[in-house]
Amino acid sequence: MNVLLVHAHPEPTSLNGALRDFSVARLQQAGHTVQVSDLYAMRWKAPLDADDHVGRDPAAPFHASLDSRQAYANGRQSADIAAEQDKLRWADAVILQFPLWWFSMPAILKGWVDRVYAYGFAYGVGEHSDRHWGDRYGEGAMSGKRAMLVVTTGGWASHYGPRGINGPIDDLLFPIQHGILFYPGFDVLPPHVIYRTSRVDASTYPAVLDALGRRLDGLATDAVLPYRRQNGGDYAIPALELRAGLADGETGMGVHLAP
Ligand code: FAD
Repeated sequence: MNVLLVHAHPEPTSLNGALRDFSVARLQQAGHTVQVSDLYAMRWKAPLDADDHVGRDPAAPFHASLDSRQAYANGRQSADIAAEQDKLRWADAVILQFPLWWFSMPAILKGWVDRVYAYGFAYGVGEHSDRHWGDRYGEGAMSGKRAMLVVTTGGWASHYGPRGINGPIDDLLFPIQHGILFYPGFDVLPPHVIYRTSRVDASTYPAVLDALGRRLDGLATDAVLPYRRQNGGDYAIPALELRAGLADGETGMGVHLAP
């Protein structure tokens, strides 16, 4: 497979830096071709702004979505955005690797999503009708591709358990897994989370690599999360609520996983 690893950590000698190097080597040993977008090393520009639409009318108000649509349709996107979109088209699988910062991804990675996920590329695609609400949540440009998060945390696994004070990790990662990955069509693997990283040292590091290595070995074959497809009949359109008879009496993010 072609694998794109998007890496967001400012320090090459960090744990995340070491895990990135391990992942690249492991994937290559398995016969995959790997590209890395090392966002800090690339000095990735995080804020989405008018400079992303090359040659736009400077007198017109900047509109984040509409300028994105025009730039994408007319080949006037900033070159760094177009290059990342090419990598996504090339990839069969995408890994987003990052430390959990304030219960989410580092801002530089969020800025990668904001800018690379252009209107007409990652959203605003497909038929809109009373049967089909755009190609999203299981359909779209990333259909047929796999995606997986590799996340490190300071908090312990129990802090992120079903009754942990930080909230369940699946809920915290839902906006990324469901909103950023499943939305444009990726098949999403369960995340690989490395907890309590302050305890990682030379004695525990081999087990960390072993666990990550097994997940990388399953990148092409492991079962993906059974998110319900938006246009697959489980949701009433246009309300986009689960239909009666499905997960009745249940609420929360888990209802979007098919049993
Ligand atoms: P590092 O600090 O580089 O390393 C972690 C440990 O691994 C160190 O003990 C180091 O010696 C060891 N190590 C590194 N490389 C190796 C190697 N090659 N071999 C053996 N040992 C090694 N945590 C949460 O749980 N929730 C949050 O919301 C959260 N928010 C944060 C917000 C910010 C702004 C910051 C800075 C941190 C936050 N944290 C949070 C903690 C953060 O998630 C962890 O610090 C991070 O995941 C650790 O990853 P790292 O790559 O920076 O590790």
